[in-house]
Amino acid sequence: MAKSSPVAKILPRRMREPLTRSQMMGRIRSKNTKPEVLVRSALHGLGLRFRNHADDLPGKPDIANKTHKWAIFVHGCFWHSHAGCRLASSPKSNVGYWIEKLARNQARDTEKIAALESQGYRVLVVWECEVRDGDQLQRALEAFVAFKVGQRS
Ligand SMILES: [Zn+2]
Repeated sequence: MAKSSPVAKILPRRMREPLTRSQMMGRIRSKNTKPEVLVRSALHGLGLRFRNHADDLPGKPDIANKTHKWAIFVHGCFWHSHAGCRLASSPKSNVGYWIEKLARNQARDTEKIAALESQGYRVLVVWECEVRDGDQLQRALEAFVAFKVGQRS
């Protein structure tokens, strides 16, 4: 196992070699995806404690801390239509199906975040493409948890 480039493996294949439907569904269902694992280890590096897959919270965020009321979603750029992201390019076949499906995902994401925020949670969406850049990820997470700096939990 090459330890040097975990990031390369999380990149989607090119759209002209599309995954089969079942491969895609397998991906969307999977918990503990590579990007999630990387985000968790970055959070551990910041000394933060959290729970994975908080099933009792609205939207079941991938990572959450109920005491400090923050939640993080780790989103695949394709599945969650990351605006302006090259990983989110539209499929060239079954266009109607995908437009509808991805629009539904997006609407659900908006609802989940709104539901958490209405309960007083700070919510961060970490995109798959951001996770690929370790420094960028670190900065995004540090900014998100900056409210904790100087506090002892
Ligand atoms: Zn992206």
